Amino acid sequence: MNIILFGPPGAGKGTQAQFIVKKYNYFQLSTGDLLRNESKQKTPLGNKIEELISNGKFVSDEIVNTLLKNSITKLKFKDRIIFDGYPRNIQQAKKLEEILAEFDQKISHIVYLNVTRNIIEKRIMGRVTCEKCSVTFNEFFNKKEIELHPCGKGHLVKRKDDNYETIISRYDTYTNNTKPILDFYSKNVNFIEIDGNLKIDEITSKISDILEV
Ligand code: AMP
Repeated sequence: MNIILFGPPGAGKGTQAQFIVKKYNYFQLSTGDLLRNESKQKTPLGNKIEELISNGKFVSDEIVNTLLKNSITKLKFKDRIIFDGYPRNIQQAKKLEEILAEFDQKISHIVYLNVTRNIIEKRIMGRVTCEKCSVTFNEFFNKKEIELHPCGKGHLVKRKDDNYETIISRYDTYTNNTKPILDFYSKNVNFIEIDGNLKIDEITSKISDILEV
């Protein structure tokens, strides 16, 4: 099964994708991660990407689609991809169908994590990621887990775009560009909406129900 995890920034897409990767041996294809890796290269393209991400703006479809396609081409995982942060507009949604068809694959489920704005702010403002093992925690909700983290607290870093100003811009971009895809996908028989305000493990269990059918 190939799955799209859909929802606003801070909905918990990355957290749930990490769980699916671990438990069901899927590949997490996060366009945000692909773009952050590219921006670390400090090339002119990388610097441009960094500027757009820092301002909460979308990176162009051309760049994102190329990175996505390169990544799918190299993958050994067939029908076990979890899309996190892609597609983010209608053009990307159509492009994804095209790219997958080229590889004789399709989307099996679209899982929409529906989260309210106040929860999103807490999730994003508290988010920290371990630069060694990529696990994410929330400083408000996971105090104990952070203390016990095997890599140590010193490796936990905040994303540059996880600040209040950028959240507002990212949320607006989501509302204007990404949310309309819901109309496109909600007609699909495999569209599943989950209350993303629930606790992480409650959401995880609902996703497991989908994967274990
Ligand atoms: P994320 O890690 O999914 O929150 O993405 C971080 C940032 O990367 C976004 O705020 C956008 O600036 C950029 N980005 C990620 N995925 C896409 C995409 N599919 N299309 C355009 N920009 C993207």
